[in-house]
Amino acid sequence: MNKFVGYKCSLCGQKYRRDQVIYTCPADGGNLNVILDYEAIKDKYHPDDITCRTETSLWRYLPLLPVSSPGGEETPLYAVGWTPTYSLPTIAEKLGVNNLWLKDESRNPTASFKDRASAILVARAKEIGAEVIVTASTGNAGAALAGMAAAMGQKAVIFAPKSAPVAKVAQLLIFGAQVMLVDGTYDDAVALAVKAANEFGWYCRNTGYNPFTAEGKKTAAFEIWEWSLEALGESDNPLAIFVSVGDGNIISGIHKGFKDLTELGWLKQMPRIFGVQAEGSAAIANAFNAGTEKITPISATTTADSISVDMPSDGVRALRAATETNGHYVLVKDEAIIAAIAELGKVGVFAEPAGAAAYAGVVEAISKGLLHPDDPILVLNTGSGLKDVNAALKAVVEAPIIAPTLEAVKNNL
Ligand SMILES: *Cc1c(COP(=O)(O)O)cnc(C)c1O
Ligand SMILES: [Zn+2]
Repeated sequence: MNKFVGYKCSLCGQKYRRDQVIYTCPADGGNLNVILDYEAIKDKYHPDDITCRTETSLWRYLPLLPVSSPGGEETPLYAVGWTPTYSLPTIAEKLGVNNLWLKDESRNPTASFKDRASAILVARAKEIGAEVIVTASTGNAGAALAGMAAAMGQKAVIFAPKSAPVAKVAQLLIFGAQVMLVDGTYDDAVALAVKAANEFGWYCRNTGYNPFTAEGKKTAAFEIWEWSLEALGESDNPLAIFVSVGDGNIISGIHKGFKDLTELGWLKQMPRIFGVQAEGSAAIANAFNAGTEKITPISATTTADSISVDMPSDGVRALRAATETNGHYVLVKDEAIIAAIAELGKVGVFAEPAGAAAYAGVVEAISKGLLHPDDPILVLNTGSGLKDVNAALKAVVEAPIIAPTLEAVKNNL
């Protein structure tokens, strides 16, 4: 059964066969939604056929993905997804809410959410016989592509801004990608990756530009759906999901996952999706607040490098993820992001700034009255704190250096 039918443009609604286009809508540059044969899937599968599977990675959702076979069994591709969800009762109590959870995406093989997109991308590249995959990245998308491509024996070319945190650059190099650090912004790297792909015939993974990135990211929605069947029980209030937003592809991918489940008739209630942006990188939140789908580029500056984007590549769908689910966009200051790293650390979660931003967004949304104390809340930590230890060190006081004596210990207790 081939369940991958084709694409539909998110702007003009034009449909394309799957062999007709590769990236965005030829008419207007709109992001393309992958269309599946929902009737055929529904005929063949019952939700139990998915939830009873023993595969504990994103490949448990293969029947709902537009690739036929992942390949690469017993590789890091099989460690992507199926991330743990933790309950955070002490923080919930402090915030005055009753149910707060965190889904920890730092547990993916290259330590960020981006592995979901890259795992699907390399599988797709293998299917279409693409030998070289190129991407622009603030760091994590590149690390994920480099890692997954290395696992599959494929070649990856990565353009990252030269300001990328050193741990992310180290990952790129260790995974053996061809790495070029661009003397410019992330947006400059994005444009360069498209040009290079055209010039050299490479397959371009650029976030949002390639429709398969959202297809990988939607698997988080499937996991949240399965988790909520038990965790939420008969809760009447819809789940409120908080996700940090740069290009807007994680949030739109998650929305797509829930829309797929709706098409299949498997979703009881659409969660409310909340996008969190840094005040210094607020292109999508600005449009949300202005009540328009016209995204105006900004000049991004934030400590949260993973969400520092001038012109989001998936802005309109990212906006709709909130507007179509009764969600919201909230803005957080860099200081609140740094404070959030420390807060999450106290309950055993180590987040990079962009991951902690989602939690800072919960705090902000509560203070704005956007949530009811009974609303079940789920925060996504999208990346590991080890990705950017310099940011983490801003959140804490330095450790004292002491003489190796008990007296020194006593003086410092
Ligand atoms: C990429 C990334 C984001 C934002 O995802 P977008 O699709 O760009 O909105 C958030 N957090 C981390 C850690 C990321 O790497
Ligand atoms: Zn179009």
